[in-house]
Amino acid sequence: MNSKVIINDISPANNVVYISFTVDKNIDKYFRKKNFIYSCSGCEIVPKSILVIPFVCNVLPIIWLTNSNLIIQELDKTFFNSIQEFKKGYINMYPQLEFKGNITANELINNYYEPKVNLVLLSGGIDAICTVLRHQYENLNLLTLWGSADFPTNDTKGWNIQWENIKYNAKQLGFTPYYIKTNFCDFIPLWGKELSKLIKPVHGGWWHEMQHGIGILGHAAPYLYIHKIGKVYIASSFDESRKPYTCASDPTIDNFVAFGSTQVVHDGYEWNRQNKIHYIVKEGHKQNLKFKIHVCLRQYQIENCCHCEKCYRTILGLLAEGVSPTDYNFNYQPEDLKHILYDLKYNIFLNRDKIIAYKKIQERILENQNNIKDKRLVDWFKKTDLNKINQNLPKMKKRIYQQMRHLIGKILRNFYLIK
Ligand SMILES: [Zn+2]
Repeated sequence: MNSKVIINDISPANNVVYISFTVDKNIDKYFRKKNFIYSCSGCEIVPKSILVIPFVCNVLPIIWLTNSNLIIQELDKTFFNSIQEFKKGYINMYPQLEFKGNITANELINNYYEPKVNLVLLSGGIDAICTVLRHQYENLNLLTLWGSADFPTNDTKGWNIQWENIKYNAKQLGFTPYYIKTNFCDFIPLWGKELSKLIKPVHGGWWHEMQHGIGILGHAAPYLYIHKIGKVYIASSFDESRKPYTCASDPTIDNFVAFGSTQVVHDGYEWNRQNKIHYIVKEGHKQNLKFKIHVCLRQYQIENCCHCEKCYRTILGLLAEGVSPTDYNFNYQPEDLKHILYDLKYNIFLNRDKIIAYKKIQERILENQNNIKDKRLVDWFKKTDLNKINQNLPKMKKRIYQQMRHLIGKILRNFYLIK
């Protein structure tokens, strides 16, 4: 018999929505809490068939992968019908996993509204800022989440810095952003071994591989109803040239998600990261705008570290466009270039996906060399064969050491998962 997740109560009060649920004993290990809580200004006017969507989106991959039954009193009909469609995207993305399970809604509700505005789901990175710019002349609302894997709700200091950056970027274009505080990364054991076991043998974690696309999108559903949103734009992270890759946020998944009268658009997939940096710089010049871009995974809560691979990639991408990274929230000095190029050549192993990204930067540097003041950058990329960037003794030594560590880690992890 299938295990069950049953929603017991949905209570909107004082701009917060509390959803309580029970789960059968054998799937209890996939939940840390039996309450799903998110903030939502004006939630009292939203039907429960919509208020439940943030929870449903974040529990669906668990339902599918454990072949369980999610039992709901009422659910938005448009969203219910879309589930089968975006589930196909997951099935194609992860053919090694079995997506089964059922959603039982006692009542399907038509929630139609006349769309008046569009919405961008905003973070502080290149992709989201580019998407806002691509749609800047539309009647637009901006929404972000506090509580994601990058910005946990217990890190108020980090969130405040992120929120100030988001407000600053939005203000550049005359927009006022909103945020939703949510426990969607906290109600499940996000980094625990149980969820890792569910997606074995997929390489990657639960957040990136299963949760973050629909998990974020679902939170927009009550907002869409209140503000009568026509389209929700979620910025692409990948593009065609980076295939094959796996990611829970993809055109084959996101574009099939729908709520009420709203359609989701996975935006900017036809552009690579350098195309996006180019567009941000171009629009910045045209309108005299400066954006506080945040890309760093190392010191996400405070500032770009300017020493990790992602910071390097973004700094070089900005230099390729002939602008100073200091104007985009990077503490970069020209003397840093020597270290960056040294690290890329001798210290940082670049996988296939990263080599593709650096080739785009290289193409742009060679194309735009007349506008690049620091000729060391042009010279280095002219003489560097990125296909051979990993073929030198210091890197090969490091690589062997890393592979050994990886192998030992894998053995220990498997031992830990079997236990
Ligand atoms: Zn960094």
